[in-house]
Amino acid sequence: MDELRLPGILQSGIRLRGRVAGARGESACAAGSGNQSRFPGRSEARQSRSAFGGGRSLALLGGLAAAFFLASAHAQVLASRIWPARDYTRLTLESPVDLKYNLFSIKGPDRLVLDLEVAEISPALAELQGRVATDDPYIQGLRVARNRPGVIRLVLDLKSEVKPQVFTLPPIGDYGHRLVLDIYPLVPIDPLLALIEETEKKSLPEKQIPSFEKGKPKVTRLATIVIDAGHGGEDPGARGRRGSREKDITLTIARRLKALVDQEPDMRALLTRDGDYFLRLDDRVEKARKVKADLFVSIHADAFVRPNARGSSVFALSERRATSEAARMLAQKENQSDLIGGVNLQGKDDYVKRTILDLSQTATIDHSLRLGNSVLRQLGSVNTLHKGQVEQASFAVLKSPSIPSILVETAFISNPEEEKRLNDEAYQDRLARAILGGIRDYFTKHPPRPQSPLALN
Ligand SMILES: [Zn+2]
Repeated sequence: MDELRLPGILQSGIRLRGRVAGARGESACAAGSGNQSRFPGRSEARQSRSAFGGGRSLALLGGLAAAFFLASAHAQVLASRIWPARDYTRLTLESPVDLKYNLFSIKGPDRLVLDLEVAEISPALAELQGRVATDDPYIQGLRVARNRPGVIRLVLDLKSEVKPQVFTLPPIGDYGHRLVLDIYPLVPIDPLLALIEETEKKSLPEKQIPSFEKGKPKVTRLATIVIDAGHGGEDPGARGRRGSREKDITLTIARRLKALVDQEPDMRALLTRDGDYFLRLDDRVEKARKVKADLFVSIHADAFVRPNARGSSVFALSERRATSEAARMLAQKENQSDLIGGVNLQGKDDYVKRTILDLSQTATIDHSLRLGNSVLRQLGSVNTLHKGQVEQASFAVLKSPSIPSILVETAFISNPEEEKRLNDEAYQDRLARAILGGIRDYFTKHPPRPQSPLALN
């Protein structure tokens, strides 16, 4: 941004001060997850107003005014992003300081109005108008205009009534302050319905499903594999030196693996995300639980400070102690996803945090290790193995109490040679086939029973 236009910025500051001291008109309704997050800056603005009006000493007034100019000078949107997805559409506005805002909804036709206390329509805000995808499930269009001095108004024309959530996030990693508007459908998307729809497309009569092995009980249902493409949306994951992003690589491999699983007569697959958007770690776990998954496979592509670090690795959950320092650090890094991608923690019941280690979890971890070993052996024919055994650490995404779950670090995206291969379609296919081979080997030894206790939640 143009930070040298100081006089203009100061003028903006004066206009914004006028706005704070002035009257506010419309009533705010709906939106947000509570008053606190709805008006994060209101009390601050009131304090400024009473200070200005209270006849304090000139020095104090001057100091406050200077502080106010400084804050308002930076209250501008420097970057904007829209992540449309079936689950929800997210709008992110990035700024050097915490943005003050007001969100309300209007009916007939359905609209969301987001008032931002910024002085001008920055290029990042102006750009938004052309950025709404025609196939966005919730937003029809977006308009940006000056509403009154110091307030820029965003109007989102909606395709239907929605459930918005708005919150701010402190700076982390490459990001500054973020104002996040999540637009959810009134009725959340049910992953089970999506899975049933897809299975119907497969149109395979269940009685024709073969058993996995002769002599073992006949399988009378399709085994459900939930495939989780790591990261997404605001959380790009690791980055390669050539610019590849982990979130894109994981989605490509996850889609390939899904296609392969769906070709198997006795399996079906569900992707936790089939697009570039952010998904909370416990939402990934929850999706697997909702569809009573038999297995959960999370796909990643690791990064390390040493560019020569290489090879594939497979991880399972350990609640007690990580099997190595590297595994512990990796789990810590992967668990940061929620902080980077942006989670509105207010009023959320954290399923993953509630999970406790019990006997069923111990049995599940045992099966996760068996699955992990099968997959690791198969990966050994495609890539060097970073470690010859399945490692364990406290990965939040592997915490399903009753679903065997593994995390596959397909290769090191930070290794230039492996990064190149991760982008190669033939290699992606070989990786996906190896993972499928591991899943098949696991089912040969542990066929899913008609009503697997592991699938009962
Ligand atoms: Zn990752």
